[in-house]
Amino acid sequence: MQGVYVVGVAPRVRWKHPQPMPAQGDTGTLTGVCLRPMRSRAVKGTYDVLPDAQPAWTQLERAATRVLGHAGMQRLTTPVFEHSEVFDRSVGESADLVVQKEMYRFEDRGGRSLTLRPEFTAGVLRAFVTHGMHTWPTPVKLWSLGPAFRAENVQRGRFRQFHQLNAEFLGLPSPLLDAEAIALLHDLLSALGLSDLRVKLGSVGDPEDRAAYNAYLRDALAPHAGELSANSRARLDVNPMRILDSKDESDQALLAGLDKPLDRLGPDAREHLDQVAQALSDWGIAFDMAPSIVRGLDYYRRTAFEIHAEGIGAQSALAGGGRYDGLVETLGGPPTPGIGWALGVERVFDAMREAGTLHTGAAKPDLYLVPMDDLAVTEAAELARSLRQRLTVTHAYTARKPAKGLKDADRSGARFAALRGERERATGVWTVKNLATGDQFESTTERLADTIDGTS
Ligand code: AMP
Repeated sequence: MQGVYVVGVAPRVRWKHPQPMPAQGDTGTLTGVCLRPMRSRAVKGTYDVLPDAQPAWTQLERAATRVLGHAGMQRLTTPVFEHSEVFDRSVGESADLVVQKEMYRFEDRGGRSLTLRPEFTAGVLRAFVTHGMHTWPTPVKLWSLGPAFRAENVQRGRFRQFHQLNAEFLGLPSPLLDAEAIALLHDLLSALGLSDLRVKLGSVGDPEDRAAYNAYLRDALAPHAGELSANSRARLDVNPMRILDSKDESDQALLAGLDKPLDRLGPDAREHLDQVAQALSDWGIAFDMAPSIVRGLDYYRRTAFEIHAEGIGAQSALAGGGRYDGLVETLGGPPTPGIGWALGVERVFDAMREAGTLHTGAAKPDLYLVPMDDLAVTEAAELARSLRQRLTVTHAYTARKPAKGLKDADRSGARFAALRGERERATGVWTVKNLATGDQFESTTERLADTIDGTS
């Protein structure tokens, strides 16, 4: 007999014999024989969000909708892939070789080069230009939530498909907007129950400061190029400032005696930073000045910041962001200053788990209906449909013996079971069992919802 194979439910197994495999193009129950098993594991660096992990996502979405929504931010959803040019213009011109290498890029059937977003800013700004958002009331404040993709080395807190909650604040060069952006990120993390937070504030300066600092760093490090890690050596030519980000100990030793970006800010960038710092202090948001903070991509200027959490290991950066005046122009829009940040959802969940504030657990029904004869199966299905206006209700799809039916009800996690057989039908009732206390009583069909709801 041909076996039956249902997509998505196969456990990890080693096949000893030729096994049924999905036929090409078929998406339901599949038949057909082939000799190799289907790979039953998710791609390295990706993962499934199982039902008991879903509440955390709802928790995050609700907190963001409230905290960011109350600040007049609006939600924007952009596609997960864009024309490669969108990222080349923003990410690529900086020629950050590491970021370039990490992009998932492919040609579609029309020969167009497309890229899975490695971060949100470029796509959000592309949408800003596409929809003429520069005509909207200023500042335009947008938040987004979704997956991002980077072909990175996988470790704790580092995935290939990960998720970001991203925020962009567009249209004003004011340091007040920088402070608001940082404060909102802090408020959101606080609303998620995180208190052990460290805000690191720095500045990469104006483009001319940045260029001067890059030249200084290149000159200082060039004689030691051979001692730098491979990544840092590659960055020495194209974006030396990024070497400050290196986790490599010998890179850090070489950097130890050198000036940091903060030491070489021009007066305008310094003034801007001081005003951001003043606003944060006024609002009671604690932060540390971080002299060597840099952002991964070249389009940042002036304010740069990160928020770290204690206790979640090496990848402690929960979120990072910065100002990127000039990027909208690069993407074909009018001159528009802006600042933004992205929070790494997996790392935030990790920190929330440590803090004991993460919501978990699959949703459980209020009521599980147990039909004890065939007629009751139809009755149960119909009753479930009407009760679902108010309650979460599931049921058995075939007649059950009471003991078996109660066991099913228990396994479903329901608070109550209601049983129906010939005897109950004769008097128009259901036998209800409170599965936590074991209490048993009868209820009419009409009163069942009130009874379960505890409203009568
Ligand atoms: P970035 O866009 O590199 O500034 O990253 C912003 C935030 O996204 C970081 O602070 C991390 O929390 C998170 N993040 C970045 N890359 C990854 C990754 N590969 N896996 C998981 N989280 C990431």
